[in-house]
Amino acid sequence: MSTPIRVTIWNEFRHEKKNEAVKKLYPAGMHATLAEALKKRPGLEIRLASLDDAEHGLTEQVVSGTDVLIWWGHVAHSEVKDEIVTRVQKRVLEGMGLIVLHSGHFSKIFKRMLGTNCSLKWREAAEKERLWNLEPGHPITQGIGDYFELPNEEMYGERFDIPTPDKLIFVSWFEGGEVFRSGCCWERGHGRIFYFRPGHETYPTFHNENVQKVIGNAVFWAAPRIIQADSCPNYQPLEKIAPKDAQFGKAGVLQESKL
Ligand code: ZN
Repeated sequence: MSTPIRVTIWNEFRHEKKNEAVKKLYPAGMHATLAEALKKRPGLEIRLASLDDAEHGLTEQVVSGTDVLIWWGHVAHSEVKDEIVTRVQKRVLEGMGLIVLHSGHFSKIFKRMLGTNCSLKWREAAEKERLWNLEPGHPITQGIGDYFELPNEEMYGERFDIPTPDKLIFVSWFEGGEVFRSGCCWERGHGRIFYFRPGHETYPTFHNENVQKVIGNAVFWAAPRIIQADSCPNYQPLEKIAPKDAQFGKAGVLQESKL
């Protein structure tokens, strides 16, 4: 038996408490619905976390015990404490996978990892979305055909202000005419990041079989290949270097620290 991938599903978990329509679709929260779907895939150990938990449910112990973090947020991005964002960022750079869903495009952690505005066009008109599969050989698109459709979704349109993805695997077309880069992969440090567009809270998107399949595939793709803490060591040469100290000075960073 190989070790299970430890997945933490983080949800802001505010809409489900306040909005009746959302509560009806996701009585225990979108994260709980996703967890039910992911439990069908063998090899995953799933934990839930949300904004109102102590330290947003992302204590040092939880973060260091997470292989892949899934993130959904919308109305309360600003309430996420910067020190927690820094903790998550550090872990991604060490090798943890990060999957950001839908309105998580404006989360602090996504903007921190990518360094751009992450803005886009949007419209709530329950319109059809068609997601085209650009990379049928990619691990995240396994089991997905040429495309799949969601009958009702919020529109996100270009320009999406992100760094050009290392790999673009889905492009969405919307009934109103816009297109959007809806499945994007990046690497930051040793960590893999996947952004997946669908998931507006007032539509049953997370009950959709294809959406669940993509997120499940993404968990396996984003799982760490290595976890390596950052360091910046002064390094000894492998071969003997002829002495040049008398000829060139040194910046003295190490010398000063020894004073
Ligand atoms: Zn939305």
